[in-house]
Amino acid sequence: MELKEKIRKTFLERFNEPGTVYASAGRINLIGEHTDYNGGFVFPGAIDKVIMAEIRPNGMEKVRVFSIDINEYVEFGLKEEDAPNEQWARYIFGVCREIQKRGGVVKGFDAVFAGNVPLGAGLSSSAALESCFAFALNDLFNGNTIDKFELAKIGQSTEHNYCGVMCGIMDQFASVFGKKDNLMRLDCRSMEYEYFPFKSDSHKLVLVDSRVKHELKDSPYNKRRESCERVAKKLGVETLRDATAEMLNTVKGEITAEDYMRAKFVIEEKERVLDVCDALVKGDYETVGKKMYETHDGLSKDYEVSCEELDFLNDVAKELGVTGSRIMGGGFGGCTINLVKNDLHDDFIKVVTDRFNEKYGHKPEIYDVVISDGARKIED
Ligand code: ADP
Ligand code: MG
Repeated sequence: MELKEKIRKTFLERFNEPGTVYASAGRINLIGEHTDYNGGFVFPGAIDKVIMAEIRPNGMEKVRVFSIDINEYVEFGLKEEDAPNEQWARYIFGVCREIQKRGGVVKGFDAVFAGNVPLGAGLSSSAALESCFAFALNDLFNGNTIDKFELAKIGQSTEHNYCGVMCGIMDQFASVFGKKDNLMRLDCRSMEYEYFPFKSDSHKLVLVDSRVKHELKDSPYNKRRESCERVAKKLGVETLRDATAEMLNTVKGEITAEDYMRAKFVIEEKERVLDVCDALVKGDYETVGKKMYETHDGLSKDYEVSCEELDFLNDVAKELGVTGSRIMGGGFGGCTINLVKNDLHDDFIKVVTDRFNEKYGHKPEIYDVVISDGARKIED
């Protein structure tokens, strides 16, 4: 059954009268990795995989919500001490509380929701969930007076304050602002953003999820951040956003080889995002793909956040003539994102699945994604 019909049917069975249906999307990031905390650019887009919810105010002071996918029903009040234990419900509770903390209105409501954003695959199902409810509660109780950027921040604060995930703003931003056939270049320093067309009749986006996540000692993420901060300080700039390759080379002898490589990647990656935007305006997907491979190499060799499985997926893509391929996300496992010519698509999926399975003993998960709308009302 289609997502919407399933939700409609379940809602009616549980709560007797229909509500309003909303959705928000998962996201990809085409290019711009490890740039957010360096004040650089990211380049995400919402995808055709969503969390969808039917919601109706219930005139009570409590929320009653059923998760179809987890097959669990939870009730909670709207005061700070009413936080539910179920992880999935904490995302919804957090959104309610963060709206209230900002002076917005949230009253009791009934909800049923489900989705098709794969969980924990790097497509940000949690942001889709937060953005779906934030958008809905803004519409139902606040006459859409909360601006869209604030909705994204409500999702981010939910992760920070109710789910223990200290994430940046990209995922929620992409989920809220997503627009069909457009990617968004977000400037992580000024928070300004710009839409760029991403609609190719000749290429598809394919994610290959290695389904490995390497547990790492000594917090590599913090170490990467520290390297970047050290170099920025040395250069007398606030973040590496303000650094150039020439500047970096003037201090090469005074910093460690490791710090040099980390900073080099970040500076080059900032430029690559801008180059990809220029290429997209011209419809030049070959250049887009070339930059994606450069990002992969940088992440693998200079930033050192890849792993054997991801490098293998990248090598296979290159060998098969895939236009672009790179690690998506923080690294050490997870997905590659691939820009694949239509006529290569089926072969690529078959070969990459078989060869990965042969080598690592399990199949990668494949997700075709289409750049689509973000948070929205689906139906009254
Ligand atoms: P991701 O990278 O997909 O965002 P997270 O661990 O941040 O992974 O978020 C996944 C969590 O979001 C799940 O454990 C669950 O609590 C919630 N979630 C996501 N999708 C659904 C869904 N369809 N139904 C219920 N909860 C969901
Ligand atoms: Mg998440």
